[in-house]
Amino acid sequence: MDSFILYNCARYLQNVNVFSALRLGDVFNTLSASSITAGYIRSPVKPYIPYIPNPLRCFNCQRFEHSKVACRGQLTCSNCGIAGHSANGCKANPHCFHCKQDHSSDSQDCPQLKTEKKIQEIKIKQNITYAEAKNLISQEKTPSY
Ligand SMILES: [Zn+2]
Ligand SMILES: [Zn+2]
Ligand SMILES: [Zn+2]
Repeated sequence: MDSFILYNCARYLQNVNVFSALRLGDVFNTLSASSITAGYIRSPVKPYIPYIPNPLRCFNCQRFEHSKVACRGQLTCSNCGIAGHSANGCKANPHCFHCKQDHSSDSQDCPQLKTEKKIQEIKIKQNITYAEAKNLISQEKTPSY
């Protein structure tokens, strides 16, 4: 869970940075005038947090970036990650389709899900496409071997 906490801290700090950057911009003017006196903030104003939707995960094939409606993949069990059956009634041990670890494919602890969330966040904050954001992430994580 430590990495999850760190992730949230990093997220928070990022939001603070975004907020300080935005203070210089037009968005500052849209903040409630009553909470701002002589150019500084008297009472705590909620930091500006852009809405980051959860990564889209297909309930059919478990892959990200599309919904079940648009799915062209194979029905894959979200519990054991094996194609050909649904998680309904699956008694197998959890096995993640994405990262191959011992959790179900819809687990919030999945590192792949965290990466997808990061991509969403960068995509929205920097107003770039999914592919561009993914590219940024993969450059960040270039293995050092
Ligand atoms: Zn799918
Ligand atoms: Zn299964
Ligand atoms: Zn996983």
